Amino acid sequence: MVASLGYAAPAAKVPLGPYSFERREPGANDVMIEIKYCGVCHSDLHQVKDEWGSSMFPMVPGHEIVGKVVRVGSAVKGFKVGDLAGVGCMVDSCRTCGTCKQGLEQYCENGFVGTYNAKEKDGKTITQGGYSNNIVVDEAFVLHISDKLELSAVAPLLCAGITTYSPLRHWKVSKGQKVGIVGLGGLGHMAVKLAHAFGAQVVLFTTSAGKSEDAKRLGADEVVISKDAAAMKKHLKSFDFILDTVSAPHDLNAYLALLKFEGTMTLLGVPPAAPSLNVGNLIFKRTQLAGSLIGGIKETQEMLDFCAEHGITSDVEVIAIDKINEAYERMLKSDVKYRFVIDMATLKS
Ligand code: NAP
Ligand code: ZN
Ligand code: ZN
Repeated sequence: MVASLGYAAPAAKVPLGPYSFERREPGANDVMIEIKYCGVCHSDLHQVKDEWGSSMFPMVPGHEIVGKVVRVGSAVKGFKVGDLAGVGCMVDSCRTCGTCKQGLEQYCENGFVGTYNAKEKDGKTITQGGYSNNIVVDEAFVLHISDKLELSAVAPLLCAGITTYSPLRHWKVSKGQKVGIVGLGGLGHMAVKLAHAFGAQVVLFTTSAGKSEDAKRLGADEVVISKDAAAMKKHLKSFDFILDTVSAPHDLNAYLALLKFEGTMTLLGVPPAAPSLNVGNLIFKRTQLAGSLIGGIKETQEMLDFCAEHGITSDVEVIAIDKINEAYERMLKSDVKYRFVIDMATLKS
């Protein structure tokens, strides 16, 4: 077994603290990565608080992992010791169902294996995530990372980046379209950057007036304070596509009203409570309300390569691992600019 050190939540709503555990010895197809940085996703917070009712403890969160390969199994072909490597939200899937065969492992018909808070295929071992010094993952779920970009700012691409890239590509967001992004947090700021890079006219909806200037710098053409009813009204029936990244319960109808005929609104956020829907917003304009889950391995690599080519990274606030509980508190107050990333060197000290 491999000795690992990390930060874990011992139980729901209990602060995270240092935790020693073991990972499997790398098998023939496994890559072992020394973790350099790990991003902090709001999904980590939902799960340490057990807001989705599926949490297993102790839990080492973290699924925005970048680091260096330190060991490879005998059958590994794509990685060698010293390579930069990344791991996102998945570490395995059945690999045989229809969606897996299409490279859409996130929609695996048998359920993908999450990077943490999930059961391995053996049905017993509980996976532990990236708030730790190392991880052992089958090479089929390991990504290549460019050395051209700042490594700490690449980490959030492994979840926030792919989760926004995938729906923007799927719904073919491009030049000539008016696109709304709701919420300027980790996912939202990546969505603004990517939609802008794809050539769309980008409108950012925020509850935080203080984020307006940043939003424009990140690529938004216009910023709307969503609590301002008059400002919202100006955009009625005008959007081709809206991507909603909000982590808390909020009124979807206010945004559905902004879609034009046959427009689409896609939900990414997973608030603990169900939304209420004014069906008229769908029926009278033949609009679509959809959802989207992270992205497949092939598309994640495509996104990383796109970002390396275009110099796109996340705007990060690098923190020491013992500041994780404070970072969660700030995240709950929407006070993130625009992703916390843990510097794993601070774990040893
Ligand atoms: P985050 O960094 O905390 O950002 C969420 C943003 O939502 C906040 O910055 C804030 O933006 C806005 N917001 C927060 N509370 C709000 C409220 N009460 N009303 C309106 N707006 C509010 O979170 P994140 O890491 O980007 O994650 C966002 C959500 O996506 C989470 O629910 C997470 O679990 C989910 N997620 C889903 C997937 C997927 O595959 N679908 C993947 C990753 C994460 P403003 O200050 O601009 O208003
Ligand atoms: Zn995430
Ligand atoms: Zn499958």
